[in-house]
Amino acid sequence: MAALAAAVAVGTGQGEGAASAPARRTAAVRPLSGKVVVIDPGHNGRNHAHPKTINKKVPAGPFRKACDTTGTATSSGYAEHAYTFDLATRLAALLRAQGATVRLTRPNDRGVGPCVNERAAIGNRMRADAAISIHADGAPRRGAAST
Ligand SMILES: [Zn+2]
Repeated sequence: MAALAAAVAVGTGQGEGAASAPARRTAAVRPLSGKVVVIDPGHNGRNHAHPKTINKKVPAGPFRKACDTTGTATSSGYAEHAYTFDLATRLAALLRAQGATVRLTRPNDRGVGPCVNERAAIGNRMRADAAISIHADGAPRRGAAST
C-alpha cells in the first residue's frame, strides 16, 4: 500500500525525487491508484414497476424531490437505465484498470432505486474523489417538430 501512496504522490508532482523506480512505473500504469470514484448509473431497471416507491419525496438539499424516475427510452425501446448501466460497468472496468477503487450506486439493473439522496450518501460515505452520474436524456429526431 505504501508503494501505491508513493505512486499517487508522483502523479501529483509531489515527492518525485523520493519515489523509487518501481513506484514511478506503477504511477505510469495505474495513475488512479488510491482514488475513489463513485458511479451512479441513474434509473434502475425495475423502477417502472414500483411507482409508489420512486415517487416518494426524499431530501435533496434545500428541497425535496421524487426518489427517482423511470428515465427515458429511444423510440425503438432501448431504455435509458439499460444504456446507463452498460456504460457505467464499462467505465468502472476502465477506471479500475487505471487503479481506481470504483463503486456503483447499484449492483445490477434489475432493482428499484436507490433514491437520489441515498445515491449521494454513497459517495459521501465512500469519501469519493469523484462522483459520476450518468444519464441519457432524449431529444426529438432531427427535423422533428418539438413542443
Ligand atoms: Zn435520466
